[in-house]
Formats: sequence, C-alpha cells, structure tokens
Amino acid sequence: MKTIKVSVVTPDGPVYEADVEMVSTKAKSGELGILPGHIPLVAPLEIGAVRLKKDGKTELIAVSGGFLEVRPDKVTVLAQAAERAEDIDVARAKAAKERAERRLQAKQDDIDFKRAELALRRALNRLDIAGKQ
Ligand code: ATP
Repeated sequence: MKTIKVSVVTPDGPVYEADVEMVSTKAKSGELGILPGHIPLVAPLEIGAVRLKKDGKTELIAVSGGFLEVRPDKVTVLAQAAERAEDIDVARAKAAKERAERRLQAKQDDIDFKRAELALRRALNRLDIAGKQ
C-alpha cells in the first residue's frame, strides 16, 4: 500500500514521525483526509485529533490547533502542543478541565472567559483522545 511521510512537530520537538497510509484531521474549514498524492495544501487546524492510519490501525494524536502542510512527499503538522494518545496524563487533563470550568463559572472579563474556554476545549480533547485508546 502507498504511504506518505508524516511528522507532528511542536516547539518542544517532534512528537511523531512515520510513514502512514492516511492522515485525517479537523481543519478550520472542515474534515480533511490526506492520502498519498494529495495536492499541496496549508490549512489551520482546530483543537482536535490527528488520526494516522498505519498498518491498518489508527493512531491518535491530540493537537491544540496549529497548521497542517501537505507537500508532495510529506505531511507536516505544526502545533503549539501535541500528545500521542498513550502519553496523555488523564489526571492532569481532568484537573485542567475542572479549573477551566470553575473559571467559566466565575464570569470574569472577556479575555479570561476566552482563555478558560480554550483551556476547557484542550482538556476535553485530551480526555476524549485518551479514552479512545
Ligand atoms: P495545563 O493547564 O495542564 O498545563 P494546558 O492545556 O494549559 O494544560 P498546554 O499549554 O496546551 O497545556 O501544554 C503545555 C505543555 O504540556 C505541552 O507540552 C503539552 O503537550 C503538555 N500537556 C498539557 N496537558 C497535558 C496532558 N494532560 N498530558 C500530557 N501532556 C500535557
């Protein structure tokens, strides 16, 4: 089966690198499925999952937004934070979720609200992806 090289990179370094059969993820414009031979593309990503199909199995990576770049020979995901499903610290994500929920209930100014909302989305995404293992 044809494959394409994928790397998921964060400011702390690479999180994932492999040859995969398909990459799928949620871009701001909608769901994207990348197969080998896909046209070049740059797309901003949502907080969500990057799904990598490899040897018939699907691996999940939690990403906190970022960009996806498709080149003829390679897909790169560049994210502020990214964790493989098995590396997610569930207790930490639960604590982040509870902290964000408390902040959202406290109803401070708009900036704090937005920050808490994003923190909540990151935490829910991590819990969701850790649970799908
Ligand atoms: P927290 O409040 O727990 O730090 P956060 O959503 O604010 O959560 P980020 O700013 O997105 O955290 O990430 C900071 C760093 O910590 C990144 O390297 C990210 O991969 C890592 N990280 C955050 N939460 C988790 C988690 N639950 N499990 C593993 N790594 C995590």
